[in-house]
Amino acid sequence: MFQLPTVVAFGSLITGLLACLAFSLSLGSRTEKELAWWGLAYTCIAFGLALFATAEGKSSWAANGGNAFILWGVGFSWAGLRALTGRSTRWEVMLAGGFLWLMACTVPAFLEDVVLRLVLRSVLGAVYALLMVMELASFRGEKSVTHWLATALAGLHCIFSGVFAISAALFSVGDAVAIYDLPIVRLIALEGIVYGLLMGFTLVAHSKERVAARHRVAAATDPLTGLLNRRAFTEEASKALDDASGTALLAFDLDHFKQVNDRFGHPAGDQALQVFARVAAGSIRSGDIISRLGGEEFAAVLRNADPDTALSVANRIRVAFAREASAICDGAASVSVGIAMVRDGADLYALLSEADAALYRAKALGRNRAVSLSCAA
Ligand code: GH3
Ligand code: MG
Ligand code: MG
Repeated sequence: MFQLPTVVAFGSLITGLLACLAFSLSLGSRTEKELAWWGLAYTCIAFGLALFATAEGKSSWAANGGNAFILWGVGFSWAGLRALTGRSTRWEVMLAGGFLWLMACTVPAFLEDVVLRLVLRSVLGAVYALLMVMELASFRGEKSVTHWLATALAGLHCIFSGVFAISAALFSVGDAVAIYDLPIVRLIALEGIVYGLLMGFTLVAHSKERVAARHRVAAATDPLTGLLNRRAFTEEASKALDDASGTALLAFDLDHFKQVNDRFGHPAGDQALQVFARVAAGSIRSGDIISRLGGEEFAAVLRNADPDTALSVANRIRVAFAREASAICDGAASVSVGIAMVRDGADLYALLSEADAALYRAKALGRNRAVSLSCAA
């Protein structure tokens, strides 16, 4: 069929390229520590496979040492996954596989028994695959396609390795000298190489996908308050206006905020902005939208809200903000609100300027109030 040493040598070459890819990507990103781990992991695996390819099918130092390097590589790749989730490195678990293997290799009875070697090697492979599955399963947040793919690959490898261990233990595998000709050995080697390569590319893609998702969130978020920024608000609010029936737009502007900064300091002003964001976000429903448009100006879109509801939500936020912020600025913080109700065909900019006009009226009437031009305040 095929020469196993050739396949293993080829696997070593591709794995080495994968290591180069992971290292070169890690150079460009100081935050993604997992890429450096995977670079190290695949360097170890490539070296282990290269040693293995020279072993000529015998239980030699090259085959045993090769297996130890592959197991350390597998441990490093698990450590990379932990780095991805911000967890600490478990050195003892990461290195245990390779050292256990080397310790077993110091026992002559183990070295002479191909069944024992196949069983231990498969069991160690299954354990690390299981650790990968557990690490992936503990991920928080939205799970991407590459996340599920990595979980499926690790899960399948765990099952295959378990089946290999049981098969090797139950069935006679024959003559140890011609080990590369044993079907089970060919299967184990092939499955291992295919798993390693697929997993490597999947993990690198997964890391890059997470970076892209993080950048997407950062580009849409105001760093001080964690609310949507103006750009994201414009997008989200425009979508919300498409199914317009009973939608209200609220424009908020904190009152005399320049004076608040002057009296209590800029850090206290920042804290007041954060308090407003928390209070406003906590006062709306999950389908509603709240954003910091810039400076001390905020906007909200309320879905399925009639004019009375919009006015009462605005007043609820206004009263709660004055109460919550009073500790920071000695009762000096308040907010004015302008309300616009969505009509058929109205675009976001027309509504924003209508809400602004109402806000202007609220300021002129003495501030710390909510005004809707379409109903009494
Ligand atoms: P009005 O009641 O008419 O809205 O008066 P105002 O003082 O709030 O209005 P003005 O537009 O003159 O001032 C806005 C102030 O908001 C000025 C600026 O220093 C402050 N500000 C804007 N962004 C921030 C911020 O990120 N942090 C802090 N602490 N202050 C900010
Ligand atoms: Mg303003
Ligand atoms: Mg203001």
